[in-house]
Amino acid sequence: MGKISFRSKSFFLFTVLLVSNKLYGFRVVLDPGHGGRYIEPNSVYGDKYEPDKASFLEGYRPGASVSGLNENEDVYEISLIVKEFLDLTLTEKGRYTFYQILKKYDSSAKPPVEPIEALISRKSGYRSRYWEIDYDINRDYRLYDHEDLLSHESVEGVISRINALKPDLVVSIHLTGGNPGRNGGMAAVITPSYNVFYNAIDYVKADEQKRNSIRESFSNGAYGKWFISHHGRSAFEWFLCDAWIYYTGYWSVVDGLNPDLEKFRGFRHNMVTWSYRDESLLNNSSMNNPYISKNAHLKYFKPGGKFWEREKSTPENWRREGGLEGYGGDNLYASQEILRFIRKGLLVNYVYNSRNLPEIVTPYISTWSVPTYVNAVSAFLELAYLDNKYDFNRILKYKKIHAEAIAVGIYSLLQGTKISESAKVKMMPWGNSIDFTKYKTYNNSNYFDIVTH
Ligand SMILES: [Zn+2]
Repeated sequence: MGKISFRSKSFFLFTVLLVSNKLYGFRVVLDPGHGGRYIEPNSVYGDKYEPDKASFLEGYRPGASVSGLNENEDVYEISLIVKEFLDLTLTEKGRYTFYQILKKYDSSAKPPVEPIEALISRKSGYRSRYWEIDYDINRDYRLYDHEDLLSHESVEGVISRINALKPDLVVSIHLTGGNPGRNGGMAAVITPSYNVFYNAIDYVKADEQKRNSIRESFSNGAYGKWFISHHGRSAFEWFLCDAWIYYTGYWSVVDGLNPDLEKFRGFRHNMVTWSYRDESLLNNSSMNNPYISKNAHLKYFKPGGKFWEREKSTPENWRREGGLEGYGGDNLYASQEILRFIRKGLLVNYVYNSRNLPEIVTPYISTWSVPTYVNAVSAFLELAYLDNKYDFNRILKYKKIHAEAIAVGIYSLLQGTKISESAKVKMMPWGNSIDFTKYKTYNNSNYFDIVTH
């Protein structure tokens, strides 16, 4: 891959101004979660804007908040430090410093350190910007596009803004409230591909015997531990409900065989500014339009339009299926690898030992917005359970070590390192870089660049 060598500091300032011109081989967007506040009514201050109703479909998700730690502020702080570490790779002097850091993780590391451009997806959280945005605190923190409350001009959400930057890798950083009594740990957040969701369509169309076999093979498969949003449905029933949301915008009733027409969550792919909007849905009256509720049924679902072509495409399978982890694609590998680097970081900085390192627990699997609608390899990290005292203290004390390890993990995913998994300590980094060339040369164009016109 051709890389442009770095010349002077002013060169970098220039790239910040002209952010659409990439001067480096790789661009990463750090995406600290949340930023806004839960305020009612949801129709005015929520997220998922429905233009036809001029109203939001859901409440704003403010993130976790536990005894003085606010997820939205802490993940922003961590992201800023990650950027400081990666910015070292953009100057001659900084590259030497970064090389010294790299050597802590990989004793065989050799110069040169390659430059990586790092950007952040949002500004600091609402508390620090109250004076600027007080008429709509959530204005700059929504995931999806909406209209400005006063001017009615359209405002791009975080997902659109990330896609406009055409990054290679997006690293979303979160903390979770979890439930008291959890053992704590770190987890990846992933969304499987079209083909996995299609099991729900087969299930709805099948007879009872075939339904049993679909249920069984799903539960025994890689996605069997599907995320349970609330009590009252099994993992498989949540999978069915999420598949209905993914395909039609509607929740399903508990058995997953029919839509719950009271619960419409919108066409999320049309709430993003990108090349994959479905124009036919914008101009109503289409046969496929689930507003006409008889068409909302999975039995009648037909994957027409650009978004569903994208969902079925090869690059989406690279992102979301198979790969080094055996499932979950490059997204899961990127997430798990950075989490493994955090374990290594806590070890090489001598704050933990091999017996008390935080575990990497089972991924959260659902129809999550960011891994689905971001057009880059998506690493999505839950760094800690704030309800767990051990995790809470880890974040409170060691933000900088987490940030350093995330920066080194990102470097390794883009450039590769020679780390080989230690026999003594489990869940150490693998050191494999992701094959980004396959995306950048797909169908003679760059898959990451065709996301906007
Ligand atoms: Zn979060």
